This record gives sequence, structure tokens and C-alpha cells, in this order.
Amino acid sequence: MANTSSIEWTEATWNPTTGCSKISPGCKNCYAEKLSKRLNAMGLKKYENNFEFTEHPNDLELPLTWKKSKKVFVNSMSDLFHENSRMEFIAQCFNTMIKADWHIYQVLTKRSHIMSEFSEHFKSYFGNIIPPHIWMGVSVENEEHVWRIDELKKVQCHTRFISFEPLIGPVGKVNLKGIDWAIIGGESGPKFRDVEKDWILDIVKQCKKQNVAVFFKQWGGARPKSRGRTINRRKYSEYPKTKKIENLLKDIVFDEKSFAKLCLQTNQIMKKKTIQI
Ligand code: SF4
Repeated sequence: MANTSSIEWTEATWNPTTGCSKISPGCKNCYAEKLSKRLNAMGLKKYENNFEFTEHPNDLELPLTWKKSKKVFVNSMSDLFHENSRMEFIAQCFNTMIKADWHIYQVLTKRSHIMSEFSEHFKSYFGNIIPPHIWMGVSVENEEHVWRIDELKKVQCHTRFISFEPLIGPVGKVNLKGIDWAIIGGESGPKFRDVEKDWILDIVKQCKKQNVAVFFKQWGGARPKSRGRTINRRKYSEYPKTKKIENLLKDIVFDEKSFAKLCLQTNQIMKKKTIQI
């Protein structure tokens, strides 16, 4: 956890869970895995399980202690909708986000099917969709994974975003209706897979045509900043338009246990959690 971040499109990271498991080609050189091992080797207790999925109840309320408003990337070191993530714990994370509503939360997953179903349950429980300061997003690394965009469109929320990073192939023609923001970036690290300029230009063009804000993060390379973040001498650092909608849930009592029970009664999440992607 850190109330600052070097990731260009956010201002802080909050990791109520750490660790994950690889589910698609975009995970191959996962930086969170490498960093977890390094932090463990440095003796950080939070990473004593290395990259094994772990909940950290002590960090659940951390954003409530940050008084200054920030954009907060939720789980830069994990995936909140991981198969081993308990619904009650996910609900506790959302409870903090609902209460500490002076921040913007950027919740990013590759488990888009679990995210979309969670949001359906959220809507049935509250009679309201996920509040506007919580942005919900999916990662798409190539054309084979654009199906996650269709899952994202089903997510019951106000602001949806896609992270096309690490971009390891072209994405083809994409329908971005209902999408507010796209982050684009090439892979970085010693084993980086090179991105092609045409793949990036194609996404930028489609975003512009379909009115989606664009944040071009990096070309990638051996290090994140190796080749900068300029396309044809231009930087794309756009964010979605802020929606001025009141957080109607702020003062509501969220009983995470009964919410988790409701999720499990329908049993869909548990069934879908076992899907091999
Ligand atoms: S989903 Fe994200 S955090 Fe998990 S292994 Fe893949 S890249 Fe790493």
C-alpha cells in the first residue's frame, strides 16, 4: 500500500489483498509477481506468502485515513476478483470505498465475469448500482481477450475503463459503447514483448471515434520509461469525464456477511469461479 504511486494514471495504490495466479497471456511477465518476491526477500511481512493470494484485513480501512482526495488503484499487487477472494472480503473492500468517497477508486480485473456478477448482486442488495467514484475496469491484452469488454459492459456502475496493457497483439475492431476510458501501454521488463505502433494507433483512433478518453502510459521496453509515452510528439493523458452524481449509499449500513450470503445463495459466482479461462 502506498499513498503515492509512480504509475502514471493513478495517485496511490491500495492492496487489501496481495498475490494472484496467472490466467492469460498478459500475465506472463506479471510485475506484481516479481515485486512480491522482492518485497518478501526484503523481509516485508505483508509479502511473506510471496505471490500466493492473501487477504489483509488490517489494510481494509486504509483509504479512510487518507484525508486528501486521490485516485486510488485498487490492488496493483493482486486481483480483487481472484477465484480465492471471498465475497465477504470483497464486500468489506467496497464498504470502505463507499464510505471514503472523497477518493476515486480504479478497480481493475482480468476476472471480468466475476466482477460483472458481483455488480449484479450489489444492485440487488442496495437497489442501486456501484457509486460514481468507483471506476470499474478490465485488462485486455489482445484480440482473444476482447470478450472481457462485453463482460465489463454488464457491470452495474457509472464509469467503465479498459487497460490495454501490456498490449501484446492487435485488438481488432472493438465496440466501445458504454466505455469511458482506455489506458494503453506496451510491456516493460527484461523479457518485454515488443508492441507495434500500429496496434496502439488503431486503439487510439477507435477511442477518438467513439468518444473514449485515452491515457497512453508507455511504449514499454526494458524499463517502463525506456521509450517514453509520446505518440507522434503528442502525449495522451486524458481521464474520463467526472460524473457529478451523488453517492446515495454513503450512510447506508452494509452488512457484508448477509451480502456474501445473498451472493452464495444464487451460487452463480461459485460456479463461474471454477471456469478455466
Ligand atoms: S491477473 Fe494481474 S496480478 Fe494476476 S497474475 Fe495476471 S497480471 Fe498478475
